[in-house]
Amino acid sequence: MSRVPDTFQAKRQSSGTPGTAEPAIPTAVQDTPTSWQRELAAAVRTTAELRRRLDLPAAADPGEHGFPVLVPQSFLNRMKRGDASDPLLLQVLPHTEEGHDVVGFAADAVGDLAARRAPGLIQKYAGRVLFVAAGACAVHCRYCFRREYPYQNDPRLPEEWVPALREIAEDKSVTEVILSGGDPLMLSDSRLELLCRRIDAIPHIERIRFHSRLPIVIPSRVTSELITILTSLRAQTVFVVHANHGNEIADDCAVALRTLVHSGIPILNQAVLLRRVNDSADALELLSRRLVNLGVMPYYLHQLDRVSGTAHYEVDPKLGLRLIDELAKRLPGYALPRFVREIPGQPGKTTLLPTELQVP
Ligand SMILES: *Cc1c(COP(=O)(O)O)cnc(C)c1O
Ligand code: SF4
Repeated sequence: MSRVPDTFQAKRQSSGTPGTAEPAIPTAVQDTPTSWQRELAAAVRTTAELRRRLDLPAAADPGEHGFPVLVPQSFLNRMKRGDASDPLLLQVLPHTEEGHDVVGFAADAVGDLAARRAPGLIQKYAGRVLFVAAGACAVHCRYCFRREYPYQNDPRLPEEWVPALREIAEDKSVTEVILSGGDPLMLSDSRLELLCRRIDAIPHIERIRFHSRLPIVIPSRVTSELITILTSLRAQTVFVVHANHGNEIADDCAVALRTLVHSGIPILNQAVLLRRVNDSADALELLSRRLVNLGVMPYYLHQLDRVSGTAHYEVDPKLGLRLIDELAKRLPGYALPRFVREIPGQPGKTTLLPTELQVP
């Protein structure tokens, strides 16, 4: 397995690709790291440092289990010092239980590999394909469903996108491309623009969707240059961010989300139901309220995918259903996410419903 952190990818990409016939999109300007790239370079990368920065006592090293610690400062700033059960810290702090084999938890729990249509291109659902645009992320979430995904087999350079782009161009049933990863916003602006334009040039693509946690964890990634890229496409843009707890929506993050909302792009949030992080009605209510107050619509609350090393985050789906029920009493209908689980082989995410409501 071993997922190699590729944090400096954006910087390395700026060296360009000599000998390939690229459209003239300047890359030279990327040679100076932008503020978000500097923030990423300065991120915390060890458990010991994480504990030190939060004034937590030193503890035995739980190991990283092939998935290194990565926490940017702006995300760390939103954690409470001295609190070992801070809901943001618990998302990024390695635990000895990651090393335990638990029955029912596997490396490829959601069947990503079987759904591969081309290098970096996954299709499970009608009409939409998932394009693994980057192998890197700006934060390493310990519960990640792709923590064991073999990113090293997927395209990195624009010439390596060709098979996936050809596959999309030749299949008129595909109307939406979801840029995912890793995190697609880890690409430099020039690389991201190039990819978006190539997809946008395929006439039957109606929508380009971005799945990114960067506006949450490094809000400075939302620059006017990025907004220009997102709003200059022919296809409709849709943006799905990923926040799990209301405390993630701090001031700098709120500014970034507002900027995205004001650009006119629909902004949705997906969250994962996580033990000790957001498995209470109060936590989920706070998250939904902070989001909708910024114009960001709660989309999905995911039941955890059963990926190796994440069992200690699992919440009983029955509790999830009770929480959704409680939320429905507290919040306007539009502030309620759909509680879903990914079941391999199903034609879409499966909505979890109380047994008495399930249609036989
Ligand atoms: C979740 C997912 C999607 C998106 O599903 P929506 O219900 O459209 O949000 C698309 N492709 C794959 C492989 C997925 O896992
Ligand atoms: S940002 Fe998303 S893909 Fe990256 S580690 Fe977190 S959950 Fe996984």
